[in-house]
Amino acid sequence: MKQIAIIGSGPAGCYLADSLLRLVPDASIDIFERLPVPFGLVRYGVAPDHQGTKAVARVLDRVLSRDRVSFFGNVEVGRDLSLEELMSLYDAVALATGASRDRRLNIPGEELPGVLGSGAFTGWYNGHPDSQPPPIDGVRSAVVIGNGNVAIDVARVLAKSATELAGSDLSPEVTSWLETQPIEAIHVVGRRSAADAKFTQHELAELGTLQCACPMVQDSTTLAGDGAIVETLRSFAADQSRTASVMIYFHFNLTPIAFLGDGRLSAVRFRSADGALHEIPAQLAITCIGYETRPCCIATPANGVFANVEGKVKDRLYVVGWAKRGPSGTIPTNRTEAQLVAQRIAQEVPDSTRPGRAGVLQLLAQRHVWWVDYAAWRQIDAAELACACDGRCREKFTTVTKMLEAAQVGQGLSCPSATT
Ligand SMILES: Cc1cc2nc3c(=O)[nH]c(=O)nc-3n(C[C@H](O)[C@H](O)[C@H](O)COP(=O)(O)OP(=O)(O)OC[C@H]3O[C@@H](n4cnc5c(N)ncnc54)[C@H](O)[C@@H]3O)c2cc1C
Repeated sequence: MKQIAIIGSGPAGCYLADSLLRLVPDASIDIFERLPVPFGLVRYGVAPDHQGTKAVARVLDRVLSRDRVSFFGNVEVGRDLSLEELMSLYDAVALATGASRDRRLNIPGEELPGVLGSGAFTGWYNGHPDSQPPPIDGVRSAVVIGNGNVAIDVARVLAKSATELAGSDLSPEVTSWLETQPIEAIHVVGRRSAADAKFTQHELAELGTLQCACPMVQDSTTLAGDGAIVETLRSFAADQSRTASVMIYFHFNLTPIAFLGDGRLSAVRFRSADGALHEIPAQLAITCIGYETRPCCIATPANGVFANVEGKVKDRLYVVGWAKRGPSGTIPTNRTEAQLVAQRIAQEVPDSTRPGRAGVLQLLAQRHVWWVDYAAWRQIDAAELACACDGRCREKFTTVTKMLEAAQVGQGLSCPSATT
């Protein structure tokens, strides 16, 4: 029998477990998750108005429900257990901790109220318990820095009307904040050319279908090159006379050099390729320039990821997902990659008599750590679905305390005296 620990229950961790179940018939897999709830960025990154994409959670949930898998929610490796302890208890350990730290631009003014990383902003609109609401109001103009799909998500959520956001799982607080901002302009700004933009065509084109917002290209001479993205941007630029209550302006070839403001953001300064300076007035700026992996005990990232060779960090320690390759690709990319790492684990890791789950249960009992098992997670899930109102599909609990209270309904939290 192989005892395998996976740290993180996002898509990468769940897909790895799924592949291991297929490849190693006698594998016993324990998934540790710092939050009481699973699925990582499927729950806390993917935009709340894209419930079709979030539906992949059902596939991931099936993995957690399997007999040979145990979910340990509310157990953070680094706080409740150490990586060293897991390495001594399990035959193999996989880091699937994602990349949750916003990359910084490191330019003046980045600390000003009104300047946020996309992780902070998308975490907040998705109800992440660690997140805070933007500390500002009266946003008339927002600057979104970055040319990937996260920038599009942010622009779209800011631009959508309340009616368009119906059916999402945005919290009432978020809905109310969005509704009360007098947003007139959203500027999506890229350092490189339009042809270099990393948007996907489907996400970009969706901006052209919004009820009250209209996408526009600030300077159509920046639209050199071919391809679906440039073509879509050309279609936005074709009719300069269009107006809407919210205008979404695309800018290219502008490098951010400073956030300006006295006590709060008032503008963002950019430099263009010819050295000219440009200022865009803004009360809110969101940097969508990528993410880095955080350290996990003795595992320290380099260049934003855990150094690895095809998913292997060192003997018996593996890595998958964003913690392995950085913030790129789509959710299915994590599945393909996890399959390859699972093959490595299946081939390389011998069976042993390490205690695995029994050893972890003992440690959690000694430390009085209470965890959320699969049944308790389903209690939280059911309570969130039951609380949904005002056209929402779910009302998320936004604090760990509320999640744990909901988990205690019915069967309740798993306790350290539980058996394997
Ligand atoms: C804003 C945003 C929108 C996105 N939208 C889409 C989209 O529409 N479509 C798409 O295909 N992809 C999208 N993605 C990308 C997709 O979310 C990622 O590919 C995927 O989530 C990466 O999976 P992961 O498991 O590596 O990381 P994560 O999803 O981040 O999961 C990591 C998990 O590990 C847990 N964890 C971290 N540290 C510890 C620890 N020490 N102990 C225990 N647990 C820990 C975290 O709490 C988290 O649950 C989006 C990403 C972002 C940021």
